Amino acid sequence: MVIITIVATAASVAVASGAIQLLNHYGLGLAIRLDLAIPLAAGVSLVVVAPISWVLIGMTLRIYRIEEKMRNLASYDSLTGLLNRQAFFENANRSISLANRDKAAFAVLIIDLDHFKSINDRYGHPAGDAVLRLFADVANSVARRSDIIGRLGGEEFGMLLPSTNTAAALEFCERLHKAIGKAMLKHQGSIIRYTVSIGLTASSFGSLDSIENLLAHADLALYQAKRDGRNQTAVFNYATERVVGS
Ligand code: GH3
Ligand code: MG
Ligand code: MG
Repeated sequence: MVIITIVATAASVAVASGAIQLLNHYGLGLAIRLDLAIPLAAGVSLVVVAPISWVLIGMTLRIYRIEEKMRNLASYDSLTGLLNRQAFFENANRSISLANRDKAAFAVLIIDLDHFKSINDRYGHPAGDAVLRLFADVANSVARRSDIIGRLGGEEFGMLLPSTNTAAALEFCERLHKAIGKAMLKHQGSIIRYTVSIGLTASSFGSLDSIENLLAHADLALYQAKRDGRNQTAVFNYATERVVGS
């Protein structure tokens, strides 16, 4: 605001002095006194510009904040703070294109909380919500900054791990299972524990698949992990197109 006021005042003074000199030069008989007119021009500019720029800057900041809030609402899940389904798909597909260009490995996980309905039934919906938030915190703490995490819906989450082959992704899943085991939720005098099942698929040869197709394959592995007793990871092997337990 100070800069705008200084610039506007300087411009106003320059325009006023130029105009007065021109008028006096062409002898229009007005004989305007520069020593009075210039301070007057500066004073008027200061009084007018400062409040107007204050209002304009305030409005711009408010619009910027609203825009940021709307962008967040459009991209993030309000309960967990993770990317929502749409934003996850967009980010993941961008990351897959990059990985394909660099012929880099990447892994896709689908993570589903086990017997989540019974947590809601036993402790109530708000406790279920708290478990979902806790899962998001734990997943974020185990993940790298470049990993993409999103809530696909309900108690189901997607992850894309760039530059990660099957072995490294399995290690990641083990770390996640362990971290979830340790991070229990204290709720009204009870301790709530939960587990997750994970379906994993990894590509090391630059898959041209979309995140939608990769998740569909990871989902086959997730069903296997559930069938095998939950609290574990199963892998969809891209090369053999078969699901194997971890
Ligand atoms: P499984 O081990 O086979 O995955 O069993 P599950 O009970 O986790 O799966 P199911 O699909 O039977 O139940 C999922 C439950 O998740 C049902 C639904 O009410 C609950 N749920 C979905 N979204 C939310 C949410 O935002 N908050 C809470 N508290 N519960 C939710
Ligand atoms: Mg579930
Ligand atoms: Mg589910």
